[in-house]
Amino acid sequence: MKVIKFGGSSVASAEQIKKIKDIIVSDADRRIVVVSAPGKRFPEDTKVTDLLIDLASQVLNGNKGVSHVFNQIVNRYKEIATDLAIDEDIVSEISHSLQELIEGDTTEESYFMDALKASGEDNSAKLIAAYLRSEGIPARYISPKEAGLYLSDEPGNAQILPESYQNLFALRDYDEIIIFPGFFGFTKTGKLVTFSRGGSDVTGAILANGVKATLYENFTDVDCIYSASPSIIEKPVPIEDLTYTEMRELSYSGFSVVHDEALYPAFAEGIPVVVKNTNNPTAPGTKITRTRSESEYPLAGVASKSGFASIYISKYMMNREVGFINRVLDVLEDYNISLEHIVSGIDDIDIVFKEEMITAKQFQDLLVEIKVKTAADVVEKRDNLCLVMLVGQNMRHKIGLMARATKALGEAQVNIDMINQGSSENSIMFGINENEEERAVAAIYKEFFESDK
Ligand code: ASP
Repeated sequence: MKVIKFGGSSVASAEQIKKIKDIIVSDADRRIVVVSAPGKRFPEDTKVTDLLIDLASQVLNGNKGVSHVFNQIVNRYKEIATDLAIDEDIVSEISHSLQELIEGDTTEESYFMDALKASGEDNSAKLIAAYLRSEGIPARYISPKEAGLYLSDEPGNAQILPESYQNLFALRDYDEIIIFPGFFGFTKTGKLVTFSRGGSDVTGAILANGVKATLYENFTDVDCIYSASPSIIEKPVPIEDLTYTEMRELSYSGFSVVHDEALYPAFAEGIPVVVKNTNNPTAPGTKITRTRSESEYPLAGVASKSGFASIYISKYMMNREVGFINRVLDVLEDYNISLEHIVSGIDDIDIVFKEEMITAKQFQDLLVEIKVKTAADVVEKRDNLCLVMLVGQNMRHKIGLMARATKALGEAQVNIDMINQGSSENSIMFGINENEEERAVAAIYKEFFESDK
């Protein structure tokens, strides 16, 4: 049994949905299908999820009347239904349910927002199931509630509750092809909550784990995962195989093809994941498994991500002070900041986290608090930080890779603010200024993928 997931661009129009029908029926093992909300049809288009967020914000700001954006959302589904020649009743149902949602309880804003966001995938799944049936394919919409997909009570950023897996096993028993909406589930008290953005990937991986699938196929709009972002490098080397660890490092550091939390449920059960293209389904794609064979390049890929900040703390004789880092971490915990990396020297540390975690005002208070609690000599914020990540299991025990990377960055006039490499040798991280991101990635790519195998 395979679980197959289609992202927003794969369900953005009737033309795309016809392609996914062909993909589903071409393999009898494709029994469980997870779908996103309709995404962009062309670069300037707006994803239905973004329209829904806009609509929810308008309602929360007091505009309860039927707005332009309400009509835009309904029209996206209407256009798809008309082009697929399915019964227009489904469009009235979508319109009614959306109307009901906006008239719902707005007292708890984040749950209201999640309910609206999730309707994008929910309506997409209902519509696609109806289309498949209209084509004579036995298909059935199943909601996360019916399936027992329970999540933690964290609106917009929920996590799976382990007991869900056992409930999901029952999805194996259906004769029809299951069409399942991605991106959301329910808390134990029955509240709808979503994963973070892009979370339909997570639903797919959870279902694959739950039904003990032989394969999780993640269909998107690129032929495979590339060794660098095609927006920076023209025609980067395609990646055939990756390990879960490599993929997690790459997606965490900016490869947005797969959600960085989506791999865990697959990893936990050892279910292989393949990333494929809805527009070119016969291309082999990229396969992600526990282990892989050696490839010709020392790196699997180079990724980069901006939007980080760090707190630089220095104190003379810091290394002799027991519990110093603990005191800093206690302050971060009080501000609910999860840290991404710690880079340290004998008398100083840099603590890296996502800039979005904290407002500028909170940041000022945080710096003062750290200074008071640690009596450090310097406590400073450093922002506009970009992390460039060199990833690949082949780096292990290879001598001289760091030297080549730093030389390449030096020649490209990129200043390195910080370096981090763990003893697993799976990745090397460079912290640089975000203005130098493209130059840095291009220099690393050239060094490891063009000048050497
Ligand atoms: N539709 C949601 C988003 O745009 C979830 C997804 O597509 O995976 O974030």
